[in-house]
Amino acid sequence: MASKPGIYIHIPFCVSKCRYCAFLSGPADGDTVKEYVRALERELCSYKDELADRVFDTVYFGGGTPSLLEPEAIKSVLDTLRCCFALEEDAELTLEANPGTLGSTDAEIRERLAGYKAAGINRLSMGAQSMDDKRLSYLGRIHSADDVRRDFRLAREAGFDNISLDLITAVPGMSLEDALWDVEEIISLGPEHISMYTLQLEEGTALHRAWERGEFELMDEDADREMYHSCSKALEKAGYLRYEISNFARDGRMSRHNSKYWDMSEYLGAGLGASGYVGGVRYRNTEVMEEYLQGRARAEEHVNTRDDDISEAVFTGLRRRDGILMSEICKDFRKHYDDVWSEVLSFAEDGFLIIDGDRMRLTDKGIDISNRIMALFV
Ligand code: SF4
Repeated sequence: MASKPGIYIHIPFCVSKCRYCAFLSGPADGDTVKEYVRALERELCSYKDELADRVFDTVYFGGGTPSLLEPEAIKSVLDTLRCCFALEEDAELTLEANPGTLGSTDAEIRERLAGYKAAGINRLSMGAQSMDDKRLSYLGRIHSADDVRRDFRLAREAGFDNISLDLITAVPGMSLEDALWDVEEIISLGPEHISMYTLQLEEGTALHRAWERGEFELMDEDADREMYHSCSKALEKAGYLRYEISNFARDGRMSRHNSKYWDMSEYLGAGLGASGYVGGVRYRNTEVMEEYLQGRARAEEHVNTRDDDISEAVFTGLRRRDGILMSEICKDFRKHYDDVWSEVLSFAEDGFLIIDGDRMRLTDKGIDISNRIMALFV
């Protein structure tokens, strides 16, 4: 069931490029950042009339590295949002904050975190990725494990009581023991939320080029899957519920914003290369900075058909622990998928899917071949 709409804001700046990164991000000078914030605010204001009837309950600054923006800039964007749109009083306001970008002394970091808090940010998502310095360096991260510990501690001291940490598994050369050690180190910090991603080798990245040069071998699929399930079990044992394939939360602190991507809620995406889903239209912004700064934000649009909505709802919904309620997606769900239903039942008989009345969800085994199963519904 869709929830209230959210707002995603892309901040495409980073100190340097991580070796595995295929996100839209690059370096920036102070003037470009200022110009970008102005363009962002112009874009947000342009949706004011179209979205006058919506009440938003999440804002997510993602990137790139949003914590490269000064607290004043984040406040300015949030003020613009509050001026243009109805934002719920208790909206979840998340900022992605990369360790090593908040300042170099405790005093600097405290001041920056206090600034974000005063601006209204009430959730931080920190890209820890690993707690092993050698692995962090291999991945091209600019921070150490101690930077993660320090920034996390100072964020707690600044009053952030909702923090998510990101973690990457299946890094070349990583053993199962290494992965479990990373998980335990992250757990020991006690974040409310943990996102655990399997490293994807994306074309065009430094890591992909290293692989093409034969510098390392890809992790064997069975080892990769064993690592995922063992780390998931360790997280669940520590009280983190796996509510989505890659996301774990304790005490019910799921990401309200990210949940919108899995339940077909509307979200306004703003910024360079951002995508959104509003009023049945999926759109994507330009990835060309000059165009964006000149106010030509929108690059492509697609009006979703009923079939698009149904297949997207199944595709994203099956990523959740609870799966989907078939009748909620489409009254004649069974009939809609008549041509593939026998294959769906085969997956269920073989233990990859559970169909329990109206609910359908993936089993642990099913997660390992989720792309094959989901492809049936597209
Ligand atoms: S910090 Fe994030 S967005 Fe920036 S280069 Fe690294 S992985 Fe990419």
